[in-house]
Amino acid sequence: MGIIYGPVPSRRLGMSLGIDPIPRLICTFDCVYCQLGKKRFKVRGPEEVKEPFPTPDEIADEVKTALQKYEHIDYITFSGSGEPTLNPKLGEAVEKIRSFTQIPIALITNSSLLTRPDVFDAAASCDLVLPTLDAGDRDTFVRINRPALGFEIDEIADAIGKLARVVPIWLEVMLLESEKYGSNVTQEAIARIIEKIGMIRPHEVNLNTCVRPPEEPVNPISEEKLDEIRVRMEAALPGTPIVVVPKRTKSQSKLLREEEISAEILRILAVRPCTTTDLTDSLGINPAEVGKYLARLAESGKIERRVHKGRLYYAVSKD
Ligand code: SF4
Repeated sequence: MGIIYGPVPSRRLGMSLGIDPIPRLICTFDCVYCQLGKKRFKVRGPEEVKEPFPTPDEIADEVKTALQKYEHIDYITFSGSGEPTLNPKLGEAVEKIRSFTQIPIALITNSSLLTRPDVFDAAASCDLVLPTLDAGDRDTFVRINRPALGFEIDEIADAIGKLARVVPIWLEVMLLESEKYGSNVTQEAIARIIEKIGMIRPHEVNLNTCVRPPEEPVNPISEEKLDEIRVRMEAALPGTPIVVVPKRTKSQSKLLREEEISAEILRILAVRPCTTTDLTDSLGINPAEVGKYLARLAESGKIERRVHKGRLYYAVSKD
């Protein structure tokens, strides 16, 4: 998997050039709603990762090359196949990218490592941080995020709160229900999440639900329920914008040369399953054309089809 993916149409960031700064699917959590599949590997920190991480120079060089290729990028975003803050030189990479572009830099993180001073400083050097907080209490945190040993939701929330004093924070809350794992949308669970948000004081709260197919038996919550929670949060948190993340954002990117399209589709799908429409928006080519490439890739066994809530998604094949 390469370091750079996209640009992909992000529902929150517009056209986002993604940076995947970790060597493989590694994360400090094992969320029940994760889309990255069973191949991901849970660690407590970078010390437990044996493979070398992409260096700041490698990351910066690939970003520079990508910026020459694509016309319109709204954000350069550290995210990718796992937890990006596991890269121990994240701050240095941000600094190097800043030396050649004015495009704002965003960080999408599960927040777990923000308690480490080096990770906190790296996050603070970004233009925007999108941390996740799916639980306000330990029981829900352990059930939904299934963290590696040693992570405590109170400490993580404190660190997000400190970060919100120095950099804009859009806090994402993923809301879901599951017969197997329970939910984080009970009256009590939402009350605890609201308490944490009140302490963090983010610049915005993004309420989300799992619209793409996770591997585990997890269900999105209904639009009515999302709206009910939004109204409850607005009443409890006056002055904090509470936004329900829209299902899709339309945008365009530069037309890729034909021989690059299959490779680009595989890179995008390696990060997350997409519909034909998602790929059409990302690649800037028409749906019929995208369909042609998807059919070829599916035939060769490189990608597979998955139906989730009546919508057809494509994902990289598991084997
Ligand atoms: S934090 Fe993100 S990458 Fe990690 S397990 Fe959860 S959803 Fe997957």
